[in-house]
This record gives sequence, C-alpha cells and structure tokens, in this order.
Amino acid sequence: MSRAPIIGIVCDHEPEKGRYFLWDDYVKAVEKGGGQPLLLPTALGERAGELMELIDGLLLTGSFGDVDPSLFGEEPHPTLGRLNLRKTNFEIALVRAALEKGKAVLGICYGMQTINVALGGSLVQDIPSQVKNALQHSQWEERTRPVHPVNIEKGSFLHRIVGKERIDVNSTHHQAVSRVATGLIRNAWADDGVTEGIEKTGHGFCVGVQWHPEGLIDKDEKAACIFEAFVREARRVMRGNPSSVNRK
Ligand code: MN
Repeated sequence: MSRAPIIGIVCDHEPEKGRYFLWDDYVKAVEKGGGQPLLLPTALGERAGELMELIDGLLLTGSFGDVDPSLFGEEPHPTLGRLNLRKTNFEIALVRAALEKGKAVLGICYGMQTINVALGGSLVQDIPSQVKNALQHSQWEERTRPVHPVNIEKGSFLHRIVGKERIDVNSTHHQAVSRVATGLIRNAWADDGVTEGIEKTGHGFCVGVQWHPEGLIDKDEKAACIFEAFVREARRVMRGNPSSVNRK
C-alpha cells in the first residue's frame, strides 16, 4: 500500500511572543481529505525549494497578520494588522517553488492573498473603508457558522469541485484580493463584489478561497469537498500522474 500524500501546512508565527500556532481544524481537514499533515515553520526560511522534495501539496493557512503592502507596491493603510515579512517571504517562495514543481496548492483566507501577491497581484488593505457598501466580512460569530453567500463562476475548477453557483460561507477577513495576478482568474465573489476565490488557469491545482472551509466541515459534509479535491491532486502529483485539472 502506498503512503498518503504529504501536505505541508504553513504555521502562523508570532516571533514577538515566541510562538508558532495552527488551528487544528486545518490538520483535521487534511486528514479527513486523505492527506498526511506536515507542519512548516518560518524557521525553514530559505529552504522552500528543498521542501518540495518532501511534500506533494502545499496548504497556506489563515493568519492573524496581514501581507506587507510593500510587496505589492503600496503604502500601509492605518488599519493594517501585524506584519511578519519573513513569514510572508517564506510563503511566497513556497508558492513559487510549488507551482514550478507542479505541486497542488490550496490557499485559505490570508493564504489565498499570499498566492495572489506571490504571482504579482494586489490586495484591498481594508474592506470597510475601501469597498463601497461592503458586507460584514469580519464575523463576530464562531467560524463554524456561515454568514454570507458567495457566487461561484460557472465552469471554473472551483465550480466543478463545489457543484454549485452559490454557497453560504463564513468570513473572517478585513482584506481581500484586489488586482488578480496574471495567470489566475477570479472564481468566486460576494454580493458586494469582494473577491472570494481565485484559481490558476491551465494545468495544475492552485486554488484560493477567502472563507474557511475547514471551519464548516463539522456542520456541513460538503465543505470537505475542497480538501478532498486538493488531496486528490496531491496524490496525482505524488504518483507522477498528470493533473486532472484540464480546462479548455
Ligand atoms: Mn467574506
């Protein structure tokens, strides 16, 4: 019997408090999807390329911090959160190395934003002040509860995974993708126009979602489908088979 695909999961990191941390729902969602989690700390710094020899898929998780706006050529907005440039640079290097090696990549919340910045896109730094008539994207409730719908682009890979054009999601972000990087498309958006999903066009699995599917799995079996699709692609990578993501 062959091993399960290994999914590298980037840990959040607060160097000022001397701690790494990770919500266990990410780990549980990877295991439920059939993958083996391997936690990746910022301390691995310059070794993003070497790590590709160990992992089949890369999961970029949410964060209490924000992406440094200097990475997309902007001055910081007053509401900008905690920055950890070393961690973000590690994540950017991981994304680029993973795509170069054809690994499966899934980005969640801040993780989706780092994918976009890694490939040359930009971010909305503060939704409440920069998006007209914005919905409440920073929910107070537990993230196990969906709070707003998202629309999913028909024919996108995300649409094939989810099987619906509209789903209810949780929302714990004050930033979002602004200019979508070249090579990516927007595959999901909220009713206020805020981008809620991106994916790479062409071959390979690279998907980002702005919500937290790992937080919905306990109450909604279907929320697991994104992790199942991600681990399935990682298994193909592991076996050296071409990706099933084959759009026109
Ligand atoms: Mn949202």
